[in-house]
Amino acid sequence: MIVTPPFFLRWMLPEAVHWNVPTHEKKIFLTFDDGPTTDITYEILSILKNYNARATFFCVGENIIKHPKVFQAILAQGHNVGNHTHNHPDGLKNSIDFYYDNIEKCQKLHPFQLFRPPYGHISPLQVKYLSKQYSIILWSVLSYDFRPEISPRKCLKNVLEYSGQGSIVVFHDLSKAYSNMIFALPRFIEHFLLKGYAFEAIYPEALASKVG
Ligand SMILES: [Zn+2]
Repeated sequence: MIVTPPFFLRWMLPEAVHWNVPTHEKKIFLTFDDGPTTDITYEILSILKNYNARATFFCVGENIIKHPKVFQAILAQGHNVGNHTHNHPDGLKNSIDFYYDNIEKCQKLHPFQLFRPPYGHISPLQVKYLSKQYSIILWSVLSYDFRPEISPRKCLKNVLEYSGQGSIVVFHDLSKAYSNMIFALPRFIEHFLLKGYAFEAIYPEALASKVG
């Protein structure tokens, strides 16, 4: 299991892709993919509120249409949102036209500034095209909350072990990830709050800053 992205992948993709947020401060960037759903998203929102944490939700257009109130609740609570396509196609297994239309369809629902490709699959050519409009966000740490063979404790261990200053951490807003996510998330937040970290949403301005 590869919790942090392999070096060759970082090397292969252009600089326009963001694997972390450059910062000198103790900040971690939580992200939640594939929602909004109903109960699970609300539960995540209440945990985040409880710890005064901000996060970024990479939403699927179809789910925004199904659950518009949940989407509004995310924004109302001060989190950021990103485009995660209309219905989660794999960018490397579909035609370019189909893929870009699918992203555009989601974009019609909200003026997103961030984009995350489903499965983290994206070609250098797609990066070149999409980075004209979006900040493309991948991740530093994948919790694997969605994997049925992973226990809640293993999921927590993944995120605790590999996260640090500027990390972008992925959880999922999905029923198949629920039991792992709901165990790991509050414990993860508590652990890093005690170490003096803050949890913030991702904004394009922060990505542009150069930290030497
Ligand atoms: Zn996804």
